[in-house]
Amino acid sequence: MALTSGLGGQLSIDLGALARNWRALDKVSAGALTGAVVKADAYGTGITMASKALHAAGARFFFAATPDEGMAVRAAVPDAHIFILNGLYPGAANLYVRQNLMPIISSMAMLEEWLAKCTERNEAYPSAFHFDTGMNRLGFRLNEAAQVRERIQGLGYAPQMVMSHLACADQPSHEKNRTQLALFGSVMTQFPGIPASLANSAGLMTGRDYHFQMVRPGIALYGGRAVNGRKNPMAPVVTLHVPIVQVKEARTGETVGYGANHSLARDSRLAILSHGYADGFLRSLSGSNTRPGGKVVIRGKVCPVIGRVSMDQVTVDITELGPDIPNPGEAAEILGDIIGVDELADAGGTIGYEILTSLKGRYSRNYVGDGNLPPG
Ligand SMILES: *Cc1c(COP(=O)(O)O)cnc(C)c1O
Repeated sequence: MALTSGLGGQLSIDLGALARNWRALDKVSAGALTGAVVKADAYGTGITMASKALHAAGARFFFAATPDEGMAVRAAVPDAHIFILNGLYPGAANLYVRQNLMPIISSMAMLEEWLAKCTERNEAYPSAFHFDTGMNRLGFRLNEAAQVRERIQGLGYAPQMVMSHLACADQPSHEKNRTQLALFGSVMTQFPGIPASLANSAGLMTGRDYHFQMVRPGIALYGGRAVNGRKNPMAPVVTLHVPIVQVKEARTGETVGYGANHSLARDSRLAILSHGYADGFLRSLSGSNTRPGGKVVIRGKVCPVIGRVSMDQVTVDITELGPDIPNPGEAAEILGDIIGVDELADAGGTIGYEILTSLKGRYSRNYVGDGNLPPG
């Protein structure tokens, strides 16, 4: 495979797989609405194209982190219902109203600012409320539930949804899941009749108890592993190919890369790729004599990264390819069928989320397929 773009590499995003993943999760959560989390540029896949494909598959409820992301979804999907996970940014209420974005309100200060805007314009602009059931990230504290209810009852205001977020859903047997579920149930007694939402991808896969009226999958849509220690049932969405820029011979005892912390135990053939940590190939994928690093696929074979990953290049040991010597310009596969997002993450000591959201490198984005699936 030859690469044509002036940037060298090519990130390929399978919108059909994205759409099928949404459909599959929507089946699992039958009975609840299935939202789509598209924060961080839709986990690196491109918020505009991903949102359009998810909408074509059937998604109507979108979760972005920031108002800027919400505006990108609004432009891509004019009739989307868009929640802003990070809440109401101080002074930004007019922007939310203009773009029809729903802040997920997580403090009394946010609530008062939103209610003031509603009162000023004499309109009950929609929002959601977030209660913290044990993560100490965003959210009202549990003991504020009664106060929140009283405040909105006095005005006749009701949120579209009340939500919380699980800290340990990737470990389904973790006792904190049950604890948070119970605490969330007690919050919901203050908001009878209001739709509830607790589950991310892993929560969705953990069981019906966690579904309530809306589920909020992110990572699973993009093919990443949500639940640890289980086979990942989702279809891969991204593949990444980058060009080999040089092939060279090196001798026993020579060292590779910054820090000279990999020395060659044999005469070797090396391929230098136009791809580095500035492209999302994490420096923690470096390999040394004492610690193996990441791997890439060249001519169908898995080859180890050796030496430190640099900003713009990485060196791969291709000695095992023998006489099957790749040519400069030929592609090396960074992400694909053999090495997926989670395998790369494991090799770099991180999670698939970080691999995906680091995909902002010097390669072109190429979309394959679309979100139009046969009905069903
Ligand atoms: C990111 C996020 C999600 C999606 O989580 P995944 O693990 O990617 O499915 C859901 N809810 C909230 C509040 C989030 O921040």
